[in-house]
Amino acid sequence: MPGVAIGTSRPCLGDAELLGQERGPIERPAGATGAPYDLVLVDRDGTLNVRRDGYVTDPDDLVLLPGAGAAVAAANRAGCCVVLVTNQRGLATGALRADQLRAVHRRLIAELGRYDAHLDGIQVCPHAAGTCRCRKPRGGLVREALRRASWAAWSRTVLLGDMPSDAAAAREAGTGSVLVDAAETPWRTVRRRLFEGRAPLV
Ligand SMILES: [Mg+2]
Ligand SMILES: [Zn+2]
Repeated sequence: MPGVAIGTSRPCLGDAELLGQERGPIERPAGATGAPYDLVLVDRDGTLNVRRDGYVTDPDDLVLLPGAGAAVAAANRAGCCVVLVTNQRGLATGALRADQLRAVHRRLIAELGRYDAHLDGIQVCPHAAGTCRCRKPRGGLVREALRRASWAAWSRTVLLGDMPSDAAAAREAGTGSVLVDAAETPWRTVRRRLFEGRAPLV
């Protein structure tokens, strides 16, 4: 079929991006015209992957939640820019090493890839609680994603998460949020809450 495939080009994320330390611009996905949102920010633990006690330090411990890959793929296909926003306080306490986080994010990207889903960027708060303005429920990760994706409108940005702290972060930054409903999969939540009446989902 002729034409440009929307939202399907996979950016290759470098080491700094995998660690959430990249500060350069995030490009608008090709063919994003008509996307229901400019930017879909996605929490990690409990939203994309199964939350576990302690930190995910081993890639083998990263297990996608049912429907998470499909949800991200749907956002990609709809032309939305998808950026991970995750608190990883373990980096400050020593419970999580940078090389472990990089390996876990490599695995996350590989797992999403099995569903034709990809991330356009990664934002990480590596700080201890109460020491920064980016750790959710603060809004810094959201604000930084919006700064990097300077073409994105705040009013066309939404954060998909599983905790009240996700909603609070979005609220502080002035964007909307959708919490994954515990009774359904991320995919169903995304379909029902994010896209319903906004764009056809393939
Ligand atoms: Mg979470
Ligand atoms: Zn922080």
